[in-house]
Amino acid sequence: MKHWLSLLLWLPLAVLAAPAPPALPHLDLDVQLDPASRQFNATATLTDEQALTGFRLGAEFEITAMTVNGQSMKPVRRPTSADVDGPPRSQPRLAAPHGGANVGLGRPGADFRLPAGARRVVIAYRATLAATPHLDHRQVLGQRAGTASPDGSFLPGAAGWYPETGKLFSYRLVLRLPAGQKGLVPGNLVQESATAAGFRAEFEFPYPADSIDLMAGPYTVSERSLRLTDGGTIRVRTWFHDELAGLAEGYLDDSARYLERYSKLIGAYPFDIFSVVSSPTPTGFGMPSLTYLGREVIRLPFIRATSLGHEVLHNWWGNGVYPDWQKGNWSEGLTTFLADYAYKEDEGAEAAREMRLAWLRDLAAIPAGADIALKDFTARHHGISSIVGYNKAAMVFLMLEDEIGRDAFLRGLRLLWQRKQFQTASWSDLEVAFATASGQSLSVFFRQWVGRPGAPEIRLKSAERSANQLTVQLAQSGDHALTLPLRLVYPERTEMRRVRLGGRETSVVLDGIDATLEAVEVDPDYRLWRRIAPALLPPILREVFVALGAQVVAADADAAVRAAALALAARVLDAKPPAVGAEWPAAGAVLLVGLDPSIDAWLARLGLPARPASNRGSGGTAQVWAGRDPAGRPYVVIAARDAAALKALERGLPHYGRQSWLVFEGARMAEKGVWPPQAERVPVNAAPARRADPPARRRPV
Ligand SMILES: [Zn+2]
Repeated sequence: MKHWLSLLLWLPLAVLAAPAPPALPHLDLDVQLDPASRQFNATATLTDEQALTGFRLGAEFEITAMTVNGQSMKPVRRPTSADVDGPPRSQPRLAAPHGGANVGLGRPGADFRLPAGARRVVIAYRATLAATPHLDHRQVLGQRAGTASPDGSFLPGAAGWYPETGKLFSYRLVLRLPAGQKGLVPGNLVQESATAAGFRAEFEFPYPADSIDLMAGPYTVSERSLRLTDGGTIRVRTWFHDELAGLAEGYLDDSARYLERYSKLIGAYPFDIFSVVSSPTPTGFGMPSLTYLGREVIRLPFIRATSLGHEVLHNWWGNGVYPDWQKGNWSEGLTTFLADYAYKEDEGAEAAREMRLAWLRDLAAIPAGADIALKDFTARHHGISSIVGYNKAAMVFLMLEDEIGRDAFLRGLRLLWQRKQFQTASWSDLEVAFATASGQSLSVFFRQWVGRPGAPEIRLKSAERSANQLTVQLAQSGDHALTLPLRLVYPERTEMRRVRLGGRETSVVLDGIDATLEAVEVDPDYRLWRRIAPALLPPILREVFVALGAQVVAADADAAVRAAALALAARVLDAKPPAVGAEWPAAGAVLLVGLDPSIDAWLARLGLPARPASNRGSGGTAQVWAGRDPAGRPYVVIAARDAAALKALERGLPHYGRQSWLVFEGARMAEKGVWPPQAERVPVNAAPARRADPPARRRPV
C-alpha cells in the first residue's frame, strides 16, 4: 500500500518535469596544471552520438596525440580560424560570468576538422600558460587568455583551453595540482583528495553547459554542510587566500542563508556544492555553483550583504535558466529584483523606496531619444544599457508583481524554474510563465515594457470633488496602459487607490470620498517606471559634485580654515580647478564650506533654510547637506566644527554623492539619508456647481 501511495505521489511530479533532453555531447577532461612552471597538460575525450565534425582549441595549445574512434590520427587544421565553413562557432556564452567577461566571442583559436563519422575523439594537448598579470578591473574584463601563477590561476571558458564543438555539453573533469594548490570548476564535487603528493579532484556537470571556467590557487578551504528544508544537503565552501581566513565564517554563514532563501523561494538549488573562491585579480564573476571574487573585493564590507546574494541567485537566473542573448537578457533584472532590491525591502519600506527613486533619478538623466528597449539589453555596459538592463528590468518585475499579485508572481517564478532549468528562456517564455500563473494575458504589459523603449511622464491635471465622488484628470506623454497608484491625502490620514490609465488623457471617477479630502498625489512611492520632473527629485550631493563649473564659496576668512575648505572642495568636485569666490555666485551649482557659526550666518543672510533639523545637534564634527535655492539651483553645504574636521572628510565624502545629508564623526560617517521625496500633488477642488446651483453657493472645499 505504501508503495502505491508513493508512486501516486511521484506520478504528477514526473509528468511535470521537463522532458528528458536528447543525449548531450559529453566532454571528459583530465587536467594537470603546475602553476609555478605554468605547465598545462590535458587529455580530452569528446563523445557525441550525432557525430563530431570538428573542434576549436586556443592557439597556444599544442596537440601531442589524437585518436578518432580509437584510431590514431594527425590533427587536420583548417586554413584560418575565421573561415566561413568552419565548425560551428561557439554559441554566445549562456552562463555568462557576472560582469560579462566571456560574453560572446572567444579568443582566436585553431579550428580542426574531423573525418566523417567521428563519434569519440581523444586529444592530448599541452601549453605553457601566460603568467597571471596584475590587472585593474577594466583590464580583467578584456582578459580572455588562460593564465597561471602560484598566487592564482584562471582559465576562462573563452580562453579555448579545452576542445570546443560549438554545442552544449555535459562534462566530467579531473583536476590535478601540486601540493599546496587547490582548484575547481563549476559542478558537483564527486571526489577529492589533498595529500603530500598533490591535490586531485573530480567534478561533474550533468546539465547542458556551454563553457568551463577553471580556477586554482594556494587556497585554504573552509566548509559547512547545509541541510535544506527539502531534505537536500549542500556543501558550502570558501576557497580563500590565507589572509582572508578570518572572513571565511561570515561568508559561509551568508552563503548558506542565501542558498536557503532562494531554494525556498524558487526551487531546489541544482548542485551539491556552492563555493566562494578568491581571485588574485579584481574580478566579480558568478558561475554555476560558485562565485569568483577578487581577494580585495572579498574584504569590502558590503559584498556579503548584497553582491554575494546576487551571485548566489544567478545559480537560478542566468546560470540555471539561461537568457536568450539574441532576444534580450532578463536575468540581470530578475536577479537585481530578487536580490539587491529584495534586501532593501527586508530593510524597510523607506529603503526600498529610496532604491526605486534612485532608479528613476538615473532614468531622468537619460535623454528621451537615447533610451533603449529592454529586449535590446544583452550584457552589462555602462550608462544607459545598465540603467535599462538592471534598473528598468527590476522595476518591470516590481510592476508585474503589483499587477498580478505576490502569490501569482511567485508561482510564475517557480513555473519558469521548473520548465526551463538548464535551458534557454526568452522574455516571451517569462511572459508565458507569469500569464499561466496569474491566469491573465500579459501581452500588453510585456509589449510596452520589454518590447519598446521609453517611459511615460505622468501628469496630474486636476482633482475635483462633488459630494462623495472625486474626478481626477490625468495625462501621460505616451500611450502606456498603466495601473496608477493615487494617494488621497486627508487631514489625519492617507488612502491608496489604484486607477487604470489608458491613452494620453484619462478621466477617472473615484467613489467613497470624504468631504475633508485635501489633495491627491500620483505614484507617491515610485512604483512605476516613469520620467519624473527633475524639480520633484530630492536634492542629492551628486548634483553639485558633478556639475560643470561648480563654484566654491569659502565662508570663513581664517587662512587655515579656508585652505582646508578649498582642499576638500577639490576632492569632492569633478570641476577642476573649481572656481572660488567669497560671495554667493549669480548662477550655477554652489558648494558652501565653512565652520558652523559662519555657515549659520551665511544661510540666514542668503535666506536659505537653516541647518536641517535631522542633523542639527546630533553631535557630529561635520554636517553636509544638499538643497536647491528658490530658483531651482543646486547647492551643497559643508559645515564643520574646525579645520581638522573639514580635513577628515576628504577621504569619505566623495563616496556619498547619492545622499542628501550626512553627519560625520571625524572621518567616520555617522548618519546619512535622502530627503523625503516630493510627490506630484494637486489640491482637491469642489466641482463647479451644477446648473441649478446659484453661483453664490460655490465654496472651495
Ligand atoms: Zn548579475
